[in-house]
Amino acid sequence: MRGPLPGPEPDNLEQMDAELVECRACPRLVAWREQVAREKRAAFRDEEYWGRPVPGFGPPDASLLIVGLAPAAHGGNRTGRMFTGDRSGDVLYGALYEAGLASQPVATHRGDGLELFGTRITSPVHCAPPANKPTVLERDTCRRWLEQELDLLSPTLRSVVVLGGFGWQSLLPVLASAGWTVPTPRPKFAHGAHVVLEPASDARQPLHLFGCYHVSQQNTFTGRLTQDMVATVLRDAARAAGLPVKSP
Ligand code: SF4
Repeated sequence: MRGPLPGPEPDNLEQMDAELVECRACPRLVAWREQVAREKRAAFRDEEYWGRPVPGFGPPDASLLIVGLAPAAHGGNRTGRMFTGDRSGDVLYGALYEAGLASQPVATHRGDGLELFGTRITSPVHCAPPANKPTVLERDTCRRWLEQELDLLSPTLRSVVVLGGFGWQSLLPVLASAGWTVPTPRPKFAHGAHVVLEPASDARQPLHLFGCYHVSQQNTFTGRLTQDMVATVLRDAARAAGLPVKSP
């Protein structure tokens, strides 16, 4: 097993994801994800936890990318799929279904039949962190995977929705090094923020960047963020990406 060390770039997302799930580059996160997988939450004691890095989910020719924070200990770290099996995912997949970007409104486990249309979900950190808080070093260590994912998606990628300020702060420098021009001063994160990044090379197309509050329970339980608010941002981003959307 190898961490994100310099090496040959993968040719496609399937290959990248196969390498990603073997990554052990962050000792604290490896220990935590495996400890959670061994100890389990009582409600899931009969399940086998994934306990590994969680790869992005969605087609390799997506034109819309959703960027979160990191997998949840008993959500993605249990099921092995982004935002699957927890309350945050209920809101996100409910909104994706509302907007016509998902085949069903619920995500319970890999193999539940869920499909995303033209849309992929990823995160700047691929392993569940203690207290949902990765360190700056862990974020920077995981950056290689996000850069590769953006590069491999770039032929079709036209729009990105970032869930929360952590994802926004993490993504902007990666977009700058991945071939897009990020304005100075850097655009600020806000729910509903929309910025168009111009390509910095012939290999890139303009990229629409949207901000959305994170679908954490902290936001959804307090009413700061509703499923309809998420669906509205997703529709705007999908239209910018040229995807068909379902109206409210
Ligand atoms: Fe590897 Fe990223 Fe997980 Fe760190 S967080 S171990 S870099 S996949």
